[in-house]
Amino acid sequence: MIKDLTQYFGSNTFNDAVMRERLPLDVYLAMKKTIENGEELSIEIADVVANTMKEWAIEHGATHFTHWFQPMTGITAEKHDSFISKAPQGKILMEFSGKELIKGEPDASSFPSGGLRATFEARGYTAWDCTSPAFLREDSSSITLCIPTAFCSYTGEALDKKTPLLRSMEAIDKQAVRMLHLFGKNEVKHVNVCVGAEQEYFLIDREKYLKRDDLIFSGRTLFGAMPPKGQEMDDHYFGAIKERVLSFMHDLNEELWKLGIYAKTQHNEAAPAQHELAPIFNTVNIETDHNQLVMESMKKIAARHGLACLLHEKPFAGVNGSGKHNNWSLTTDTGENLMKPGSKPHENKQFLLFLAAVIKATDEHAELIRMASSCPGNDCRLGGAEAPPSIVSIFIGEQLEDILEQIVENGYATSSKSREKLSMGVTTIPYIKKDVNDRNRTSTFAFTGNKFELRMVGSSMSIADANTVLNTIVAESLSQMADELEDADDFDAAVTELICRTITEHKRVIFDGNGYAKEWVEEARRRGLPNKESYVDAIEALTFPNTIDVFTKHNVLSKAELEARSAINYELYAKTINIEARTMVEMASRKYIPAAIRYAKELADTINAVSIALDETEADNEREMLGECLELIGQARSAVKELEKNIADAALKGSEEEKALYFRRNVVKAMKDLRKPVDQLEMIVAAEYWPVPTYAEMIFEV
Ligand code: ADP
Ligand code: MG
Repeated sequence: MIKDLTQYFGSNTFNDAVMRERLPLDVYLAMKKTIENGEELSIEIADVVANTMKEWAIEHGATHFTHWFQPMTGITAEKHDSFISKAPQGKILMEFSGKELIKGEPDASSFPSGGLRATFEARGYTAWDCTSPAFLREDSSSITLCIPTAFCSYTGEALDKKTPLLRSMEAIDKQAVRMLHLFGKNEVKHVNVCVGAEQEYFLIDREKYLKRDDLIFSGRTLFGAMPPKGQEMDDHYFGAIKERVLSFMHDLNEELWKLGIYAKTQHNEAAPAQHELAPIFNTVNIETDHNQLVMESMKKIAARHGLACLLHEKPFAGVNGSGKHNNWSLTTDTGENLMKPGSKPHENKQFLLFLAAVIKATDEHAELIRMASSCPGNDCRLGGAEAPPSIVSIFIGEQLEDILEQIVENGYATSSKSREKLSMGVTTIPYIKKDVNDRNRTSTFAFTGNKFELRMVGSSMSIADANTVLNTIVAESLSQMADELEDADDFDAAVTELICRTITEHKRVIFDGNGYAKEWVEEARRRGLPNKESYVDAIEALTFPNTIDVFTKHNVLSKAELEARSAINYELYAKTINIEARTMVEMASRKYIPAAIRYAKELADTINAVSIALDETEADNEREMLGECLELIGQARSAVKELEKNIADAALKGSEEEKALYFRRNVVKAMKDLRKPVDQLEMIVAAEYWPVPTYAEMIFEV
């Protein structure tokens, strides 16, 4: 039976249409006021909403509800409660109160708090975020009502990724509206942040996945020799999608559409077994929730298809890694996209001012952007031959660059380069106009016509941190600019002068060349742009005095909250590498070395047999092969011991920061030293002895 998508889209969400249909009008209007204008919701209203939500959920087969939240682990958390309560005569009632809807009380001590909570101070609260619709999650045999919530400690400190994101949305809303009012747009009441997150991922066969401890424990391969073919033929990108993968995508889309997620584009990516999904953009906090659901659904549905979905930034060395392109823009409640240059951008002062605000923010807080779009896994990707570099720069395209140059030189701009006709040399092909700008795939932060695309974010990460930072630092730019313009006698002249000055001061962050080239690293150094090579080095940006000033000024994160986040990040890094290193020790000691020894024994047996059958001087080749094999086994053994020693040393370091640094500088190197002989063994040990699936088997045989 063909299902009508327009009918089932959003059928698993308690969305506006459901509320309009089921809630009494006054309750519905009160809810709308809260969602759209941030007005407080009374407990009476919450009671009615809760009851309606419960009835709707039960009609759809739900038995449980959960407050769904996003602790600092970067993934989501939930604790399920059924709707049942006791009734006389051994019966039950199905109940759900406004209080239960608004507030939950998970134990806060078991989530990362970065020292904000001691283990004995367990109380934490989840609070309903009614701006993101509640939804039903269908698993193979159960349906759960999930209520998006923010998570904080007993003392009100944010313990999650959502709270600061919501605070940052308020901050940029306030400052952008302030600026628009200066431009005379008094009808604008709110400015929303819109984000579309393109998600890259790998799919491999589940049986093979389950044979690799490294994939199971760390999400990436820690060993593996390159197969004879990688991605050099460029035959996977946009290639015809295999039937098995298409069938996965079909089920994934259906699940996402039911959840009201606008899954739009799907294609094969550059590396073999790599794919991408892009939704239509949404308000940033909803998009953040949706992206988490996209990632969770990908994993769940892959398993149903006998596949495993890998979201790690670099699951396989030697081929492309995965990122998440975070497309960011600002839209007014009157429907205007503030990132849209229009047909004559040189005359569009409002656009140029917002553009200047983004450029200034990026230059002043580049390290913070680097920090918020990184995670331990992204260290294996950023700065690689095919990934954006660790240097944050902005690409704005030829047209805008030309306008900004005019402004810097003359104090104003008089022309905009316009769109040209595209000539393809074939008369039957319809007339197409070119975009004013080409693209730059190597830029970390690229202006793409009506939005900025942050290309640095890791594929496994929540997009909350990156957007919290973008919103907050742009809010700060706008706030400084508005302070100045509010005092200006001649607004028009002051705007022009401000744009000119801002661009002149911050144009070093604009770069339209090849971000993947080695020369750029040199050039960036000359320009004084920071280049934090690793995630660990970037963490300090969270506690820069400048960061603390800006984040406290806009009430996004307090000093204590920032310090806690920094501690959590160091800890997260140390723990991640510790798991990887221990997995390597285990795999080498219990799988690779024994396999190589078995193969060595076969070689030795052959040498003995040949010597007896022929002559002791025969079997030279086998002797050479055995020698090589034993040599590599020896190297691998020493490397295992060295790695074990490094892991033990790391554990003795005092602070989380010291530990993280030790892992980064020493343990990571010892891991590389172990990988090398094992990968070499893989190239010489007979295939039938090799204990785990190879790269070729994993990425080419899906
Ligand atoms: P491309 O990356 O090729 O430009 P699209 O234009 O389709 O691709 O956009 C990629 C992502 O950017 C999609 O998720 C899309 O919904 C989102 N996007 C498009 N316009 C905006 C906008 N104004 N603000 C935020 N995201 C946007
Ligand atoms: Mg894109």
